[in-house]
Amino acid sequence: MSGVGKDPVNQPMIRHWCEALGDTSPAYTGPDAVAPATMLQAWIMGGLSGHEGRTDAYDELLGLLDEAGCTSVVATDCEQEYLRPLRPGDEVTFDTVIESVSERKTTKLGTGYFVTTRTDVRVAGDLAGTHRFRILKYTPARRKAPGKPGARRPRPVVNRDNAGFWEGVAEHRLLIQRCTGCGTLRHPWLPGCNACGCLDWNTVEAGGEGTVYSYVVMHHPPFPAFTEPDPAADAAGPYAVGLVELAEGVRMVSNVVGVPHDKVRIGLPVRVEFRRYEDDGGSGDGADGGDGAQVLPVFRVLESGA
Ligand code: ZN
Repeated sequence: MSGVGKDPVNQPMIRHWCEALGDTSPAYTGPDAVAPATMLQAWIMGGLSGHEGRTDAYDELLGLLDEAGCTSVVATDCEQEYLRPLRPGDEVTFDTVIESVSERKTTKLGTGYFVTTRTDVRVAGDLAGTHRFRILKYTPARRKAPGKPGARRPRPVVNRDNAGFWEGVAEHRLLIQRCTGCGTLRHPWLPGCNACGCLDWNTVEAGGEGTVYSYVVMHHPPFPAFTEPDPAADAAGPYAVGLVELAEGVRMVSNVVGVPHDKVRIGLPVRVEFRRYEDDGGSGDGADGGDGAQVLPVFRVLESGA
């Protein structure tokens, strides 16, 4: 398709872009201002009203791929080349072509075709830049059916800031960070204190008692790895995610166990327990370096509150 930029290159859009990205370069202001090169696509986007005169070629191609079973789509990458700077007042025109369709490729997502479009952006007929945009139209790889055993529980993200918490969990201890400057307890773990800014801290071990401060019941998407291992429960059914307030005052998100998801209530008394989750499924990609099991703190509703 061919088209004309909806607005000429202009200072207000440049300013908004720079503010959004925090780019304070002097090149983008003043009488000799140029537009940031990476704004190339901004000058040719159709906005909500779209561009007139679109040909059907692209939609036809995608339709053919749909018919071939490649019904899913994901944007994969974008490449731009900048041949000359754009300046406020430049009126841009553009032409977009389908540059290439790859051979059939198999990726982790599924099997399909990479489709690359190339847009040439011109000012007064001179090429100012090109914008290539690539998508993958694919047939999704088959996944494990919901409810089958072997659903792999995602691993917590352990980093330098929270490693101590997970080391505690591995020893069945629930550790709360305590600022040594002002004594404020905090969770989740952070490098510094929100109350006083102090970077020094130690830990206190939580007693493990708390109450349900709030909760949500997760219905969709069904996620077998998170459902209560209760033979009576629908393995792909809903489950409750609790925000538990510990007796020490901090709150943490975890599973509330011991009652069905529709019996979880604000104020229920709970106590931590440490569960071992065997990791018997999955692709074994080793990304987590796991040894096949993980220990997680969950909160069991106490008898008196059930
Ligand atoms: Zn502090």
